[in-house]
Amino acid sequence: MVKKTVKKAAKTAAKKTTKKAVKAAKYIYSFGAGKAEGNGKMKELLGGKGANLAEMSGQLKLPVPPGFTITTEVCTYYWNNKRTYPKTLKSDVEANLKKIERETKKVFGSEKNPLLVSVRSGARASMPGMMETILNIGLTEKTIPGMIAKTGDPRFVYDAYRRLIMMYSDVVMEKAAGIEPKDGEGIRKILDGLLGDVKTKLGVKDDTQIPAEELIKLCAEFKKTVKKVLKKDFPDNAMEQLWGAIGAVFASWNGKRAIAYRNIENIPHDWGTAVNVQTMVFGNMGDTSATGVAFTRNPGNGDSHFYGEYLVNAQGEDVVAGIRTPSPMNKWSANAHSKHLPTLEKVMPKAYKELDAIQKKLEKHFHDMLDIEFTIEDQKLWMLQCRVGKRNGTAAVQMALDMVKERLITKEEAVLRVTPAQLGELLLPAIDPKAEAGVTPIAKGLPAGPGGAAGTIVFSSLDAIKLQESGQNAILVREETNPEDIEGMRAAAGILTQRGGMTSHAALVARGWGKCCIVGCGELEINLNDKTVKMGGKTYKEGDALTLNGTKGFVYEGALKMLAAGEGNKNLAAFLSLCDKVRTLKVRANADTEEDALKARKFGAEGIGLFRIEHMFYGKNSEKPLFILRKMILSGSEEERKAAVEELFPFMKRDIKATMKAMSGYSVTIRLMDPPLHEFVPTLPEKQQELAKELGITMDVFKERAAALHEVNPMMGHRGIRLGITYPEITLMQSRAIFESAAELIKEGHKAVPEVMIPLTCDVNEIVAQKKLIREAYDAVVAKTKVKKLNYSVGTMIEIPRAAVLAYEVAGEADFFSFGTNDLTQMTFGFSRDDIGSFLPEYLKQGILEADPFQTLDQRGVGMLIQHAVNEGRDQKPNLKVGICGEHGGDPESVEFCHREGFTYVSCSAFRVPIARLAAAQAAAKDVLAKKRK
Ligand code: ADP
Ligand code: MG
Ligand code: MG
Repeated sequence: MVKKTVKKAAKTAAKKTTKKAVKAAKYIYSFGAGKAEGNGKMKELLGGKGANLAEMSGQLKLPVPPGFTITTEVCTYYWNNKRTYPKTLKSDVEANLKKIERETKKVFGSEKNPLLVSVRSGARASMPGMMETILNIGLTEKTIPGMIAKTGDPRFVYDAYRRLIMMYSDVVMEKAAGIEPKDGEGIRKILDGLLGDVKTKLGVKDDTQIPAEELIKLCAEFKKTVKKVLKKDFPDNAMEQLWGAIGAVFASWNGKRAIAYRNIENIPHDWGTAVNVQTMVFGNMGDTSATGVAFTRNPGNGDSHFYGEYLVNAQGEDVVAGIRTPSPMNKWSANAHSKHLPTLEKVMPKAYKELDAIQKKLEKHFHDMLDIEFTIEDQKLWMLQCRVGKRNGTAAVQMALDMVKERLITKEEAVLRVTPAQLGELLLPAIDPKAEAGVTPIAKGLPAGPGGAAGTIVFSSLDAIKLQESGQNAILVREETNPEDIEGMRAAAGILTQRGGMTSHAALVARGWGKCCIVGCGELEINLNDKTVKMGGKTYKEGDALTLNGTKGFVYEGALKMLAAGEGNKNLAAFLSLCDKVRTLKVRANADTEEDALKARKFGAEGIGLFRIEHMFYGKNSEKPLFILRKMILSGSEEERKAAVEELFPFMKRDIKATMKAMSGYSVTIRLMDPPLHEFVPTLPEKQQELAKELGITMDVFKERAAALHEVNPMMGHRGIRLGITYPEITLMQSRAIFESAAELIKEGHKAVPEVMIPLTCDVNEIVAQKKLIREAYDAVVAKTKVKKLNYSVGTMIEIPRAAVLAYEVAGEADFFSFGTNDLTQMTFGFSRDDIGSFLPEYLKQGILEADPFQTLDQRGVGMLIQHAVNEGRDQKPNLKVGICGEHGGDPESVEFCHREGFTYVSCSAFRVPIARLAAAQAAAKDVLAKKRK
């Protein structure tokens, strides 16, 4: 089957190339003026930005500055062909530039009427801040006078020019040229320093306060510095600038931080980026111009109000970079830092109204929350970007619920709107409200990423990574974060920045990851030399403890007590019950104690898929039963062993009964003992002596018996049901404990549904033999307790390949199959689960295996056995119950696999139950949506 698909794929690929060879390849798609050659579905070719620019222009007729997109195929070509372009690209670019010139009635490079463009990157998946964009391309000594003549505003023109020099020298002349300056010595930092000097000299705070004459001098200074530092002249030719920028964007695809980001986000490295060349519109043309970033709903908490920030007289990334405190779009967007600033709604009511109408239209069109970038040039609104907005888990859940209510999406779409990781955020720690009630914050900032984090102060990304590696929580404290910090931000438990707004880089990235984050905490005074930070009148050193409340934006001294979240969250409960309506797969928990069972029920488990009897020999209160078990194991005669087994009975019954009671109403699958016997032989001399005394034997005899238990290969030794075959009294006793518990519970008014599970079966005859014993115990219990109706079933784990292969026979005697995928993986691969450390990392590194099969179910190999076993089992017994109880039961991909294969349920640890409920719902939703599409 696998072979077939490979062949087929090869065929279609061949077809595609021949087709292409006939038709001249199309490398460029234009957009603007209510038209577009591409559309929103073409993300692979045009990148996310390009596809949506086309959609906004061509389909939605929104005001989009005209431009064109160079496809991702050109990026692939560029990297496959020693950084060169397809032959026709040059003439294609020129032709498309002509088209823009006709639409804008401006000319690129013209002295009198110059056209300026931006060159923007845009990959298939959004990579915020990772790749490059250059604005104001086309400004040269020749075109500057023309621009000034047209606008009558030299200040504006030189503001644009100094920005061009800064971006271009950084992106094209330094980064794309492969120059790697030391931290803080890059050209951008140097030029930023010069800009800062001018502001200091003039005694002003904002760039906007620098007059034209000073900007003219600054631009000259910039160019001299560029020449001095990078040993090259800043290009003074429009076309040269354009091609330099295009090349730099393609080069930035394989820049260090872009690669790091893709690794974290699992974005394939071979996708490539598109390049968008677009007419410049200017938000920096004085007080009637502005630029901003908005979201159709609040991405931090999910509120369904239009939300965003803007800056008057600003360009490009000023908002995102956190240079000035941005103003709120409307009253919904105001926060502690911006509430005194005028809203866009007040300042530019006409443009705001238009933008508000557009955002509504966009939500209706895309059926989702969108992230919007816009610029207002002299009161005229322009749309520069829209994409599905990143959001944190809290917001994702809120929006999914709201959009169902608003009938914007179906419940199937809604469950697909929250990723398992986002749902996980809602189950993440928060500060214990009791601990927080008693303390005052030492500082306040903007709540950019909710949840809580307590940890140790660090000041660099590297230190955050080091701390995480040593198993500690880091609180990364920075003036502002930039894309170079990406790995450190990932490693930190919480992020705290002095600068930046709610749409700053740190906020955006933190939100994407559901990380606790506070930005714009203006009162911080960071001293990187001493590695200290001053806040609330006190100085804190690296290594001091800090707690962040990212939901409120509060910073506390010391490490406050944290809570496991999830409880009491109404939205979480509502969303999970929506999941329950969509899913068909049942979700059970693996639980071995009453406590776990109760927890599992709270998380929504519908029964127990795996109760391991031997658990009572570990942990709390295990002293006594463990001692008896050891006696049983080391007994010298059948009588001795039987006596020990009897002694064990009350303990076993106590635990089984308590757990079944906690799960009243639901099935509880109790697995007969599967202990690796040798593991239970005591190793401490005093324990050995105590046991020898109890057994009335000498230490020599004790050692002899213990040695006899030694196995060369215990994983394949005397374990599982083999124990029940050799010592039937053990099966009898366990069955009796199960049935007596059930009978008593029924009499007490509970609903007990025991399922007896036989572990490690390799042949149906094992089941036949064990079932006889189980029946014998059952009959005895019924006779003794006179209970009228006691339902039970007997099934088996499928964890040995032979049992999977012979599933047809096995199902003849089993009421249910439960795939023990840990052992099944171990035995299918022949990899000892406990010994993979010495070779598996190399397998992954060399790409021999794609993933650790103990973490991600091997759907091709182990999955084929499972598929076979389910099909054969159901052929034999159509109503055969099928479940999974290995670690994989809580892994979303594996849950989807189980759904596809027609499982009855998955079972996982209590904490994973909500994730499994979501994953099961998503699997079912995909089916429904796929059917609809047909
Ligand atoms: P990113 O992918 O990092 O968001 P963009 O290509 O969107 O980069 O560019 C960043 C910002 O630059 C935009 O949000 C916008 O404000 C500004 N910008 C880009 N192109 C233009 C343009 N043609 N006119 C005006 N501003 C632009
Ligand atoms: Mg950018
Ligand atoms: Mg953008």
